[in-house]
Amino acid sequence: MHLFLKSLLLAFVVTQIAIFSTTIFLHRAASHRALKLSKPVSLAFRTIIWLTTGIKPRQWVAVHRVHHAYTDVPGDPHSPVLEGFTAIQLANVWFYRRAIRTPGLVERYARDLAPDRYDKAVFDRTYVGLGLGVVILFLVFGWEVALLAAAMHTVMYLGLSGAINAIGHSFGRRPYANLATNNNWLALITAGEGLHNNHHAAPTSAKMALGPRQIDLAWPIIRLLVITKQATIRHREPKFVNPVRINKGSFA
Ligand SMILES: [Zn+2]
Ligand SMILES: [Zn+2]
Repeated sequence: MHLFLKSLLLAFVVTQIAIFSTTIFLHRAASHRALKLSKPVSLAFRTIIWLTTGIKPRQWVAVHRVHHAYTDVPGDPHSPVLEGFTAIQLANVWFYRRAIRTPGLVERYARDLAPDRYDKAVFDRTYVGLGLGVVILFLVFGWEVALLAAAMHTVMYLGLSGAINAIGHSFGRRPYANLATNNNWLALITAGEGLHNNHHAAPTSAKMALGPRQIDLAWPIIRLLVITKQATIRHREPKFVNPVRINKGSFA
């Protein structure tokens, strides 16, 4: 196969693995406690995040919880309403890093995720994880494909993360009365995260699809983890934040 196409396909697969791990582990499990994962599965997700994203979970979780506490009002770390759509879409990671540098923010908003022995020995060494990720690609696919795919994955992962925060607070449907939006096309390529209006309405719901014809591809994986006793779900039915109003008019 052509070098470029092969790299693109590989990057797509790596990005999707990273996106599924981000939504199931970092977002739904660690940030919102919507589900509880078994120790081995949790460790597996931590390893994937380490190899593919360079993210320290407690930092991501803290920034995300601040986003829910101050959604689109001053204090929101990455609001397109405050910072502009283009800034968040293109420089989402910069806003994350800025928030992390706020003294005490991570300690305060991720108290439950204080560094453990695995963090100290392995997962806090984010560049080692990313480097090892590239080495694994190199050993399997050779250096040309490995480097090209790693570069493409970086662009895709940052682009999709930016899109959830930028598009997901700007364009799309708002069935529930919050400023976030639902976009099925975005949900399809972000393992359900594009149903961001649903998520802000019911943040502790392990399932992001709440209506007909909504796509949450992470949900079957979560169901599989539940069936195999590797995960438990917090709420059987979505628990909506109070008060929640339904904008019937905008839900065509
Ligand atoms: Zn949001
Ligand atoms: Zn959330």
